[in-house]
Amino acid sequence: MEERKNNEKNLNWYLEQARQGAYAIGHFNFATADVLKGVVVASKESGAAAVMVGTSEGEVDFIGISGVVALVQALRKEYGFPIFLNADHFKSFEKCKEAIDAGYDSVLIDGSHLSYEENIAVTKKVIDYASSVNSDISVEGELGYLRGSSEVQSKVEISSVDYTKPEEARDFVSKTGVHRLAVVFGNIHGIVTDQEEKLDIEHFSKIVSAEPRPYYVLHGASGLKDEDISAAIRAGITNVHFNTELRVAYKEGIHKAMHDKPGETTPYKYLSPAVEEVKKVVAQKTKIFIAT
Ligand SMILES: [Zn+2]
Repeated sequence: MEERKNNEKNLNWYLEQARQGAYAIGHFNFATADVLKGVVVASKESGAAAVMVGTSEGEVDFIGISGVVALVQALRKEYGFPIFLNADHFKSFEKCKEAIDAGYDSVLIDGSHLSYEENIAVTKKVIDYASSVNSDISVEGELGYLRGSSEVQSKVEISSVDYTKPEEARDFVSKTGVHRLAVVFGNIHGIVTDQEEKLDIEHFSKIVSAEPRPYYVLHGASGLKDEDISAAIRAGITNVHFNTELRVAYKEGIHKAMHDKPGETTPYKYLSPAVEEVKKVVAQKTKIFIAT
């Protein structure tokens, strides 16, 4: 962000430390200020080196883009902790530009819904724009078809034809110069209830061997076993995205508080227990990220 002092390190620096130390930086989404604060406090208390917080296009619409940036800046100052704000799965150059202009530290230009050539073109355009504004901005691209949505679903078709192809990863990174790459190797968005989610670590290792330059990002970590996440980090994942498990913890926390004290009308009294549930999830995940 513009106000960052020269002695503060940027996100790519923290990701490089993670790669060398074989650990990962967590990424958690938020749509409200209380959840954001819970994520930051729990990450700091759990011993994380830094945390990434993200907003989808929908989450930005809910809070307002200037509000999102101001909230993150305020918490960074208050807690003296490295917090990096990411535009999560922004689907167009225009949306990424809005985030960059507003002061985001990072964008994920998600062109995975486009043709391969169009994905390269839009990702390159975002990289060029971001670096012209501020060389500290970290840009992520996405390659492969990540199925599911950030919800609890019964079943999602998982097929290796959706996986990121190692030779395409190499070509994509060479042509775009992207810093981070979101890849698909068995991961899906959201939580599925009627099937086991399993990562194909062997496939991911082939991607890393073919293209070792970018910082690799694991999306859709909700619903995965802890040991699968650890194995992915050992194989080269430096950034892990969690969203759905936080949403479930928050919603169930509110539901329980409302049920326990139906007459309670003070928002911070019925929201606080929900934030505590979110903090528990963040702390538990952060311990996995840094223990590998
Ligand atoms: Zn994602």
